[in-house]
Amino acid sequence: MAKLILNGVTKRFSPEAPPAVDCVSLELKPGAFLALLGPSGCGKTTVLRMVAGFEQPTGGEILLGERRLADAGGMVPPERRGMAMVFQSYALWPHMSVADNAGYPLKVRGIGRAEYDRKVGEALAAVRLDKLADRRPADLSGGQRQRVALARCLVTDPAVVLLDEPLANLDRHLRHEMEENFRVFHERSGAAMIYVTHDQAEAMALATDVAVMSEGRLLQVAAPDALYARPEGRIVGNLVGRGAILDLPAPAGGVRQPGWPQLAAMLSSADTGPKAAFLVRPEHVHEDANGIAARVETAVFQGERYCVTLRLPDGQELLVYSATRREPGQAMAVSISSAWRL
Ligand code: ATP
Repeated sequence: MAKLILNGVTKRFSPEAPPAVDCVSLELKPGAFLALLGPSGCGKTTVLRMVAGFEQPTGGEILLGERRLADAGGMVPPERRGMAMVFQSYALWPHMSVADNAGYPLKVRGIGRAEYDRKVGEALAAVRLDKLADRRPADLSGGQRQRVALARCLVTDPAVVLLDEPLANLDRHLRHEMEENFRVFHERSGAAMIYVTHDQAEAMALATDVAVMSEGRLLQVAAPDALYARPEGRIVGNLVGRGAILDLPAPAGGVRQPGWPQLAAMLSSADTGPKAAFLVRPEHVHEDANGIAARVETAVFQGERYCVTLRLPDGQELLVYSATRREPGQAMAVSISSAWRL
């Protein structure tokens, strides 16, 4: 498959309103799994719909290798892009069996019976629905219906699969099961995928790359572990993973990842000059009798541990994990082994 390239893609639905998508540039390598992450209304679905061909950009261009799929002057229709889209609602035909639903795109193309049977059989086996081929959608669970939608996507051997919050309608248990299905689906199909979600845990668990959007703009694209360790800016820092953001006196020399001695000095400094934002992950906060004296605000039980919110002497909050229960108001001295300047 060729690379999918978005080059300064912009979408304005009206001249008065701010653009829904504002000059987004990114590249999707063949076989990549890109999660498009961001709060509601940030433009994720509009990006996906422009890639699919359901919306036309008002600026910039979308390319698949050398082939121009869309720009403000024209666009290739969805059915000629070699892509498949899986919707949140699954969009299954209620009167058709599982096999007929999965094979529908092939029927529309009018391919021969033997090839049809083979491709549908393979697609259903890939999503473990071969034993339910004759059922109707009404007789399936939510997760099984989702898998029919995936099988329907697989039969066409798409170069790019577009998924719009495909797990939003499922309960937590099923979401975990389906995450595994998506991973297997991605491996087997070899297709590049763009997966829209506002759930950062889902994005981090599934994707090879995560693109974070806010107010129509692309803020950062990185592998999940890099995004977690080195988010750029307050919005990404807030959106990805857990942690507290501390405003501390800006250190000289542009240090990005200070350790405890430096952080201790910054926390106790009376400097009233410019501040910098530092993200502190709870796993980098440790109980330490020689640390800074804080007070417990809340402690939320999470099964294997408690997530404790601490109040620092200057009024800022910090998160820390604790194996034991802590009571609000209790004193707790802590040190911070690492922080990341946003
Ligand atoms: P969600 O997670 O809630 O689905 P999103 O990040 O996918 O949100 P979009 O659906 O892309 O966001 O919407 C981005 C912005 O564009 C929103 O302000 C939305 O109101 C606006 N918008 C989307 N579609 C249209 C449309 N057809 N006409 C006018 N404005 C639209």
